[in-house]
Amino acid sequence: MHQYPDALSVVRALAPEEPVILNRPHAATRAARFFVEKFPGKSLYAVKANPSPDLLKVLWDAGVTHFDVASITEVRLVRATLPEAVLCFMHPVKTPGAIAEAYRQHGVRVFSLDSQEELEKIVEATENASDLSLCVRLRVSSDYSELSLASKFGVDLADAAPLLQAARQVADSLGICFHVGSQAMTPFAYVQAMERVRAAIVDASVTIDIIDVGGGFPSVYPGMEPPPLEDYFGVIHRAAESLPVSYSSELWCEPGRALCAEYNSLIVRVEKRRGNELYINDGAYGALYDAAHVGWRFPVQCLTEGRSEGGEGFAFYGPTCDDADYMEGPFQLPADIKAGDYIEIGMLGAYGAAMKTAFNGFGQAQAIGATDEPMASLYRGDRADPRQSDNVVSLR
Ligand SMILES: *Cc1c(COP(=O)(O)O)cnc(C)c1O
Repeated sequence: MHQYPDALSVVRALAPEEPVILNRPHAATRAARFFVEKFPGKSLYAVKANPSPDLLKVLWDAGVTHFDVASITEVRLVRATLPEAVLCFMHPVKTPGAIAEAYRQHGVRVFSLDSQEELEKIVEATENASDLSLCVRLRVSSDYSELSLASKFGVDLADAAPLLQAARQVADSLGICFHVGSQAMTPFAYVQAMERVRAAIVDASVTIDIIDVGGGFPSVYPGMEPPPLEDYFGVIHRAAESLPVSYSSELWCEPGRALCAEYNSLIVRVEKRRGNELYINDGAYGALYDAAHVGWRFPVQCLTEGRSEGGEGFAFYGPTCDDADYMEGPFQLPADIKAGDYIEIGMLGAYGAAMKTAFNGFGQAQAIGATDEPMASLYRGDRADPRQSDNVVSLR
């Protein structure tokens, strides 16, 4: 892969007609080291956030050994890329064929489930295996997250006890997992979920070997400045320590976004300007799915020299012929930006690069390495730490 110092040098050297994805392995390494060193348990990477084999290798080299996979294609991909990785099949609804192949051919032993039917399916597809780790997915609230994951999966607390007891009968190792929703903006999301875990354990009166707090760890975006991740880790650690099974259970988490958001940015070209709408060459069917469908705002900067300082709010149209290929923003860019100019859109490593489709004949993008800093970072160490500013205030 070609390496450039930054997006501007890519534009100067190549003047690319197609979008360019910039990879920043150093940013993913830093995020992975942070979780490996500071999370008070094991960190699994949730592959769906960005399944790029280059990224998987970067995370492995930084110490991430466990991978949360959700489909047989992800199982095969991670196994082919990282022969020694531990794979955890954490989609609560799988096909019998996927379970059997994962178990027999790829050495998968960890499976999640949220129903009696899925439990029976796993037992059958693995031919009554005695070495299974089964994680029962509990439904928890998504009230503190930007993207809900509360409706689709998870057994209700009221029905959890019989399922935990049945899973205990066949599991070598039994876990409880949950997902508070993506981009959880306060650590309190996990406190609430852990209270539900406590209630489930008490109701079921079974031994629990794994507490898996899932994903949801935030990244930084315009208008979304979360507290430091250390606060999340501290709150989760205290909640786990106070569970009745703390002496015997392992703590796991499954970050997707937090490990890879900073890994990619995207260079796009403005093909047309109409008022404050810019027609760019990537969009809702490309890396900007969340910008279109949930109004997510990503940081932007104009890469064409000589444009005015300051900014105005712009909306984007993507390249396809679909009216829905529209990103409202507003994205702050120079007032005199025009067709032929380039824009870097940052923080697209999670659920950005992974979402690209070939709809309408668009979606090609070259990948190039960049060595500069991502447009924002949770890990650079120069973010204002709210806890420190609180201390300053109290000292005064
Ligand atoms: C999507 C997903 C994750 C990752 O979530 P993030 O919010 O990106 O951290 C983790 N676990 C499961 C089961 C998921 O579905």
